[in-house]
Amino acid sequence: MESYEENFLKERPQGLCKMCGKCCRTAINRKYTYKELRLMAFRGDEYAKEFLKMFTPYNSVEEARNAAPDVVDKILEELDENEILREEVTFYKCKYLLDNNMCSIYEERPSICVHYPQNAWTITPPGCGYTTWLYLKQEEYKEKVRKAKEEYLELQLMKKKTTDEVVLKKISSVENKINNTIYQFAEYGANNW
Ligand code: SF4
Ligand code: SF4
Repeated sequence: MESYEENFLKERPQGLCKMCGKCCRTAINRKYTYKELRLMAFRGDEYAKEFLKMFTPYNSVEEARNAAPDVVDKILEELDENEILREEVTFYKCKYLLDNNMCSIYEERPSICVHYPQNAWTITPPGCGYTTWLYLKQEEYKEKVRKAKEEYLELQLMKKKTTDEVVLKKISSVENKINNTIYQFAEYGANNW
């Protein structure tokens, strides 16, 4: 079964990018801290190696803010909303970004860039062409999880009404599928939707 992220990337329209370069000038890594990335790269992790090869960390949030105040402030605001600690986030600038906001290695850009934004909860800079589309995808996924939860409750009622082993086995299989659906979105808050 494909993960939600794999399906997301297949559906994501390429044409929404306005080539503004903001995501290349003040990138963050929401999943890993700079320290973690360095450790991962040291241990041979390909993703971390690729990330650190292209991105140079700013020395401080203030330095990043000087480069792109609107972008940094929006990202910090969204980190707060998502209860992600500001202290754990580093801003980076890509060394391949040109002064005119174009990518100097566009045709050979790394997979991290080809796949950006890589999921519906990617924090995008203000004015990013993907913002509305990502919001709609978030709502779509939330609805999917809500329906899954409703179905789960119905299954609990069905379980109480039967002792048939075959039926109970089928119910258990559907329950597992539902739990997997919810679990895929757990890190984005699915338990509260
Ligand atoms: S911020 Fe959005 S619109 Fe701008 S280059 Fe990045 S993906 Fe494209
Ligand atoms: S490699 Fe190109 S597309 Fe990727 S972050 Fe750098 S400038 Fe942007």
